[in-house]
Formats: sequence, structure tokens, C-alpha cells
Amino acid sequence: MAEDSSKTQRAPGWTADGTGHVWRPYAQMKTANPPLPVVRTRGSRIVLADGRELVDGIASWWTACHGYNHPHIRQAVERQLAEMPHVMLGGLLHEPAVTLARRLAAMLPGDLDHVFFSDSGSVSVEVALKMALQFWINRGVKGRSQFVAFKGGYHGDTTGAMAVSDSEDGMHALFAGLLPRHHLVDLPDSDERLAALDGLLAQRGGDIAGIIVEPLVQGAGGMKFHDPAVLKRLRALADKYDVLLIFDEIFTGFGRTGTMFACEQANVVPDIITLSKALTGGTVGLAATVATKKVFDAFWSDDSAKALMHGPSYMANALACAAANASLDLFKREPRLRQVGTIAAQLEQGLAPCRQMPGVKDVRVMGAIGVVEMESVANLNALRARFVDESVFIRPFGNVVYLTPAFTIAADELDTLTSAIVKIVRTL
Ligand SMILES: *Cc1c(COP(=O)(O)O)cnc(C)c1O
Repeated sequence: MAEDSSKTQRAPGWTADGTGHVWRPYAQMKTANPPLPVVRTRGSRIVLADGRELVDGIASWWTACHGYNHPHIRQAVERQLAEMPHVMLGGLLHEPAVTLARRLAAMLPGDLDHVFFSDSGSVSVEVALKMALQFWINRGVKGRSQFVAFKGGYHGDTTGAMAVSDSEDGMHALFAGLLPRHHLVDLPDSDERLAALDGLLAQRGGDIAGIIVEPLVQGAGGMKFHDPAVLKRLRALADKYDVLLIFDEIFTGFGRTGTMFACEQANVVPDIITLSKALTGGTVGLAATVATKKVFDAFWSDDSAKALMHGPSYMANALACAAANASLDLFKREPRLRQVGTIAAQLEQGLAPCRQMPGVKDVRVMGAIGVVEMESVANLNALRARFVDESVFIRPFGNVVYLTPAFTIAADELDTLTSAIVKIVRTL
């Protein structure tokens, strides 16, 4: 998709003035490429202020699973906005939240039936950790204050979530000495590692509240895949040593790996699951921490001290719940999982030429996730800029060039994305 000069417009004033007031994420602002000013989105296209259009390979950090501006979601949010944008959930309740909780409970496996809403993925992880800690306290069990978490894992940027993320080579290394120390171990993807984790739980199980893992794909930690058998082993170990099992499906949930939830592929039901990212189809921030009856029952009591003491101001925001309900409608009405299957096949085929290229360590695909892992990337800023020159938005991190497109992406748009990767990786 070559840049069409007739569509190139003068950039609006805001792109020149005042952008320096916005503190950007994960960026050394002094040396990073300037941010691309965006004025509009639609489908899998990002329209820049100067009129250029980029084909989007990332779906805005994996959230916009139906593409941008889906009319069904937009109409649902507009209707809700006219009725009631938001009310606090303390003492009040509303239909969009009730409907969404009921639908999530029905979709999730097992008796994951009790939905605590929050406003971002990181907060839903904080809530999951707090729920697990208090689960034991409420049951009169003392000293279970630690978690088992995995190398390569990422669970968010807030303090508790950072403490269960891989701080050794992850993005939180700076704070490693300041965070509570949990057990950061290898995923049990071999007999040896399984024995090691079994040994740890045998020795220290009495200190451990739960195990937290991103099922099937460790996303922000490097787009690393593991086998469903790993999740079965974790469930068996959690049962054997009586610790809670938490699945962070903030990335993997809602079809990304080819099934509605990644845990379905292992036929495993965690005790607590966290959801966000694609929950509202990329429209408004919303997250959910969903617990089984066993977990919920530890909080159900005549004793007020056993209540879960948490409540974000914007929890279950009505606009966000309306967007999420509309997003779930689309999963029902439109053949999303079939589209993910088609995308997987096209990613396999489109990225295959990279397998033979020097400097490429691995090419892998699961569902609508396509990854080209390099041995090393010398200049990430330059690489990111080259993708923009190809009229695509692809944002490599570390040694990983990846695609997580909207499930509604057209075949020719996906071809534009994989072709850009093949073209650029060949020259690295
Ligand atoms: C993105 C992500 C989070 C954090 O979610 P935010 O909404 O960015 O706070 C947590 N866990 C996983 C697996 C994620 O991918």
C-alpha cells in the first residue's frame, strides 16, 4: 500500500505543539522515534494526521479484536452513554454489569462464576493476588504470603503484578530489589523442571498462596509458547499441594490462541482467572477477575472482616460493560474463531520464508499470533521506523517481531503485514 501523496494533508497544530507534555510508555523519550500522530481508526487501518494510512499488525496492544470502530460496539456505547455513562458500584448495580458477569460466567469453564470488575489488566492481577492471599487468611490458614511465578512471565506494571513478573530479564528489572520476593521458576515443560517445581512445593508449599501463569503464551515477556500439558501439570501440582491456581488470560482470552480461552485447550479450570485487553473489543478500559465457587465461598460470611476490601472508582464502568457485551455479541454472531483459524494458516504461510533467513532464531504461530524471533536486534528504533515506511504498524520489542492482528483483518491486509516482515527481516 504505497503512500498516496494526493491524500497527504498538512498535520494539525497539536502534532507540533505540546506533545512533550505527554509522558510516553516504555520509552526513552529523548532517543525514541517521535510518536505517530493518529487522527482516525477503522477496521485494521490507522490514519495518521498527514493522511497516511498504516495497516495495523498489533490491534492496539492486542485489544481491538474486531478491528477499530466496529459499528455494533459503537452503537452499544452510544446508547449506554445516553442512558448512563457511569455510576459507582458501591451500593449500586446496573444491568450492563449484571449481564456481562452472567455471560462471562456462562462462557468460562467450570464454576468460574464470581466476577470482580476493575479498570485495567494490572489491577485485575492485583485483585487476583489479593483474593488468593485473603482466601487463606479467611480460612484461618497463616503464613501463605508467597506466589510461584514463571520466568518469561508478565502480569502488569503495578507493584504487586511486577513482583510476579519476570524481573530478571523482563521490563521490571530496575525494581527487583524493592519488590516482595516470590518464587520465580521455570515452567514445568520437562520432567526435570516438573520435579524441581514439585520439590519446591513439597518444601515450601505452606508459604505459598498460589501459582500464577499466562496459559499457553507468555506475551509481553517474549511471545513464548508452551504446551497445554504444562497447564495440566500445574493443575495437578496445585491440587497436590493445595495451593490456588491463577490463570492470567489478559492476553490469551477472547480467541487470540484459537479457542475462546487458552485454558480450554488444556481442559484445565483455574481457581481464579484474569481478563482484560480484548474484553471490550479495544474500546474502553475494563478488566475482570473471576473466581470459582470455592474461592468465593471463603469470603461469604457473617463476618464483615472476611469481605474483599477492594473497589476501583470506575469498576464495571457502564460504557465499558456495554462495549464488552457488544463484543461478546460479535463473537456469537460472527465467525471469529474460524477467522482466527484462517489467520493462523495465513501467518504460517506468510512468515515461512523467514525460517531460512540468517539471524532468525524461530518462527512460530498460535492462533492469531505470529512471531519471528531474531537472534538479536541491533537498532529497535530504526526497525520500527522501517515498518512505518512500509505503511504498516508493527512494533517489535526485544528480539521479537510479531503480529497480533484484529480477527477481522482482510486477507490482503494480512498479506501486506507478513510481506513487510519478510522484506525487512531479509535485510537485517
Ligand atoms: C497487558 C497484560 C497485563 C496488564 O494489563 P494492563 O491493562 O496493561 O494493566 C497483565 N497480564 C498480561 C498477560 C497482559 O498481557
